[in-house]
Formats: sequence, structure tokens, C-alpha cells
Amino acid sequence: MTAWLDIACAVEPLDDIALDAELVAAMRRRYRALRGGHVGRINFYTPTFKAYATSELTGCGKSAWPAVSITGGDCQLQCDHCKAKILEPMIPARTPDELWRVVNGEIERGARGMLLSGGSNLRDEIEYDAFYPTIHRIKRAFPAFKIALHTALVDRDIALRMEDSGIDAAMMDVIGSQDTISRVYHLRRNAADFERSLECLTATALKVVPHIVIGLHYGKLLGEWNALEIVRRHRPAALVLVAVMPFYAPAGRPFATPDPHQVGQFFLDARAALPDIPLLLGCARPAGAAKTQIDAYAVMAGLNGIAHPADGMVELAARLGREVRVTPACCSIALGDEVLALEGAQSGISIDVQQVIARERSQRRPRAALSRIPVVVRA
Ligand code: SF4
Repeated sequence: MTAWLDIACAVEPLDDIALDAELVAAMRRRYRALRGGHVGRINFYTPTFKAYATSELTGCGKSAWPAVSITGGDCQLQCDHCKAKILEPMIPARTPDELWRVVNGEIERGARGMLLSGGSNLRDEIEYDAFYPTIHRIKRAFPAFKIALHTALVDRDIALRMEDSGIDAAMMDVIGSQDTISRVYHLRRNAADFERSLECLTATALKVVPHIVIGLHYGKLLGEWNALEIVRRHRPAALVLVAVMPFYAPAGRPFATPDPHQVGQFFLDARAALPDIPLLLGCARPAGAAKTQIDAYAVMAGLNGIAHPADGMVELAARLGREVRVTPACCSIALGDEVLALEGAQSGISIDVQQVIARERSQRRPRAALSRIPVVVRA
């Protein structure tokens, strides 16, 4: 059987991309032992709240899955990796009436769902209290309109109120390192609070989709494996992995780009820890060569979904024998296809991989010679 590095070598966009030979071999070994309904399927999601186009896939309509913030661009917590920057491109809806107007306007423009979020208070809670009746009203008026709510930390009462409001999915970041919670988030809470929140959410009937931000400790991996253990104990509907975006960080407290090979190792461990729930790579991750490396490892580790994939990933997945599908949805609703609505259904659009590869190749300059993928060998 052809070695996976050789298979990757045949994919042009992976030229000059360094991959760890030992890690790739481990991914191949582990992948062959995986069992379950999610094994072998990969879905590529095209997000809409970012400009997106590669030679393989094109983005879907701009207003299909808007992100809305109930605090506009404001956030009291001001974490070091974000400083509220993630809220800036979101549509502000600071009052329940404004939320109602925004949602009606977005639905008129073709929205099919939204990510509802906001800045946190100093306890890492998003104060949705005044908004629950409006969320309920939206779901009554537009039952097909999907709402994925970024919960932040919750207690049992809040989790129940979220459930009662009728949202379709609850998302929260799980942090496993006390040092990261204190230093990066400036938060007087602990990893047990994150676990308790996840426990409260998974005790409801909500579809719960936690996120783990890889490299959250100034670009280093620190609490990720503990976060993975927390997630494993509470068996959510799916897990979304994202890699920290260093450019959000302030100059005084810079973040390194997370090491793509360590990120790949974490993918491998996450897949092994959660073999039977969908594992998705969300849209936040570094750009450039690191993104291509990270995405290639995600495909090889057997993740089930990648939001706005780097060039070459459709071809890589096809060459590895995966069943490739495409869903025109934002990564926050990537859970949608795998989790939200559709238990057991074949989701996404099946694509003609040969056509995709042929089109990609016609758009590239011919290669001068067969190139090789540089191989990283661990010390
Ligand atoms: S990550 Fe969330 S809580 Fe932290 S600064 Fe950004 S918006 Fe605020």
C-alpha cells in the first residue's frame, strides 16, 4: 500500500510543505484501527463570515450564516489572544428589539441560521438574560432558522434557560490549564468551572459542541490534553478544534504560531480519545504554510470536517480514499451538517473529485519536475 507521504506528495499544493514522517506514519496506523459511523467521511465547509475562495471550492452566499453579537464589539474580559477582535466583524444587536430586527433583515437577505455571541463579563459569562424571550420568539416565528449560541461559562439555571429558549446548538470553549485561565483570560475561575459548565450543558437536551483552542497559552500547547479529557468525560454531540490566531494578540503579549506538528499530534490524540463523535476543524487557524500543514494533518488524522480548507485538501482526502462531501455553511454551523439536524443522514453535497482536481490543475502552472514533500524528522 502506498505510504501516505507519497500520496501527499502527489498533491501539488503540498509541494514544499514539511510534514513529520513519523507522525504521518502514526496517523496511518491509527486510522486503520478506527471503527465507527464517522470513519472515512470528511466534509468541507465553506464559511461565509470571511472572504473565502480557493481553487477547489468557492464560498457560499455572504448572508447565509451571519454572526451576531449582543454586546457589539464590547467585551469586559479582554483576553490576551483576542482583545475583543473576534467580535468586530459581527453584526451588533445590543438590545432584544435590535436582535429581532437584525434577524428579520438577515432572513430577508437569505440567512438560514446564525451564530449568536457576545463579549463576556469578568466571570466569562455572556449576559443573555434579556434576550431569551426574543430568541424564543425568533424560533417560534422561523423554526427552520438555526441558532448556534456561544454560551461561555454557565451554571445549571443558565443552561436550562438556554435550552428553553429553543436554540439549536450550544458552543463553549473548554480550557484545561489553570495558568492559561489566569494569565491569558485574566479570569478568577478554574478548569473545574469549565468542566461544570460543560456538564450542565450536556445534561440538557441541547446539542452541545465544545471548542478547544489549540495553542491558547501564547501559542504553546499546555492545557489542551486536559481539555480533551474534560470533553471525553461529558460526551458532547461533536468537538470543534481551532488553532489560536496570533494576529489577534496585542503587541505587548505576542503569541507564537502554534507548531503545526504538535497541532497534528493533538489531532491524532483527539481522534483516538473520541473515535465515535464528529471531530471538526473550525475556521480559526493561522494562515499560509502553517494552515496547509495543519489541514493536511487534520485530513490524515481522520477529522470529519474542515471549515474553509486550504488548497489541495479535497484532493488529499480523495487520494486517501475518504468519502468527500461539501457543505455550503459556516464552520459554526459545521456542527449543523454533522450534528444539528441530521442524525444519520448523509449530509453535504457529494462532489466530483476528479473534476475538482482537473480544474485545480488547469489553473496552475505546470510543475518543472516532480517535487518532493520535505520531511520533518523528530529529534
Ligand atoms: S475571546 Fe471572548 S471573552 Fe475573550 S476577549 Fe475575545 S470576545 Fe472577549
